[in-house]
Amino acid sequence: MSAIDRQRLERALLAEEAAFARAHPRSRALFERAKAHLHDGVPMGWMTRWPGPFPLFVDRAQGARFRDVDGLEYVDLCLGDTGAMTGHAPPAAVAAMKAQLDRGLTFMLPTEDAVEVSAELARRFSLPYWQLATTATDANRSVIRMAREITGRPRVLVFNWCYHGTVDEAFATLRPDGTVGPRPGNLGPPVDPAVTTRVVEFNDVPALERELARGDVACVLAEPAMTNIGIVLPDPGFHPALRALTREHGALLVNDETHTLSAGPGGCTAAWGLDPDFVTVGKPLASGIPAAVYGFTAEVARLFRARTSVELADSGGIGGTLAGNALALAALRATLREVLTPDAYAGMIALASRFAAGVEQVIAEHRLPWIVKRLGARAEYWFRPTPPRNGAEAAAAVDPLLDRYMHLAALNRGVLVTPFHNMALMCPATTAEDVDRHTAAFGQSVQAVLA
Ligand code: PMP
Repeated sequence: MSAIDRQRLERALLAEEAAFARAHPRSRALFERAKAHLHDGVPMGWMTRWPGPFPLFVDRAQGARFRDVDGLEYVDLCLGDTGAMTGHAPPAAVAAMKAQLDRGLTFMLPTEDAVEVSAELARRFSLPYWQLATTATDANRSVIRMAREITGRPRVLVFNWCYHGTVDEAFATLRPDGTVGPRPGNLGPPVDPAVTTRVVEFNDVPALERELARGDVACVLAEPAMTNIGIVLPDPGFHPALRALTREHGALLVNDETHTLSAGPGGCTAAWGLDPDFVTVGKPLASGIPAAVYGFTAEVARLFRARTSVELADSGGIGGTLAGNALALAALRATLREVLTPDAYAGMIALASRFAAGVEQVIAEHRLPWIVKRLGARAEYWFRPTPPRNGAEAAAAVDPLLDRYMHLAALNRGVLVTPFHNMALMCPATTAEDVDRHTAAFGQSVQAVLA
């Protein structure tokens, strides 16, 4: 087996940082200006975590590529961390949005598009009733409230190292002693997450049974496969056990398909024949316009309706003024109908397989103890020899220095990979040439730091 030479790695990272700074004078100048009135020079704090001394500033994007303000073009395998899984500015959605722009954007009243969108979602996810939200975070917050209201129970169960947006209940991790505590970096939690949340490791059926048996869990909020600490796939039998145990112990089951929508037009729910009480999805559904949805069963609808009244329907802690606005609905309808189609998925999934095969070939050539995991149109490489089975194993495999180097080396070779881990996502406009550009960059980057 080969290994990475840590000294070569440190030197190579410095060289990549210098090359990045040289190649991006305009981004650097904008970053310097931005520091005057944007905290840390970025619109959102986490953007300071991009590799490189400053973030790229984008000029324009189309399909699977974008151009930065220095005129350099990139293959985009990050795709706005799934927000642009449709590809950038997909013509069908752009045309629908342009048509809507002249007809009004937000009314506090439905448009015909809402009817079409909900029918298509019902078909894709086999859940009859749908509501609109502005972001996936909002959708998750809404279903947690519904689940608490219906069950009369206080807690949410999540999997260790999950991410479901800025949902307070989900910012909890397991401490080494097995108790629940705030996830590292959790800023100003409203209460100790141990009060609101139970946490178990993904794929740990006995722990799931033990925690659900306490009888206080309103819902399990789960990605069908974890994607936010890298891709962690369910063991065979895990989903049937999860469904059986939630039913047995009276907890509702929420599939957050925001990222696992990469598995197919109906996410893992459809691809694997899952049977949740709720599905939540956000990010790419409206081709980049903020929009999210949540769907639920007829039984949930019945129980929920029994606990709500028309007079108080606006003060339930669920909703948002701009949710389901006309622009978002027009984009949603076009995206579902013409962009994220079954045909598009077939191409995207084939390209993710090509990505995985290319990276695996480089790994084999250099006899590195690394692997690649794939979930439909999404693939990810890991600096460990076996697939992680849960969040703790996944978190332990993170190598911040190597991550930083691999991301920056790819960027300097014209490829943007999803930050915080090593994920690549395909969109309908991604080509084999785009994927091969990454394979070549990956090969060169690895070669430069081998022991
Ligand atoms: N759910 C999952 C699975 C996610 O990965 C994310 C964001 N990464 C969210 C929800 C939240 O999405 P948003 O930030 O758009 O609210």
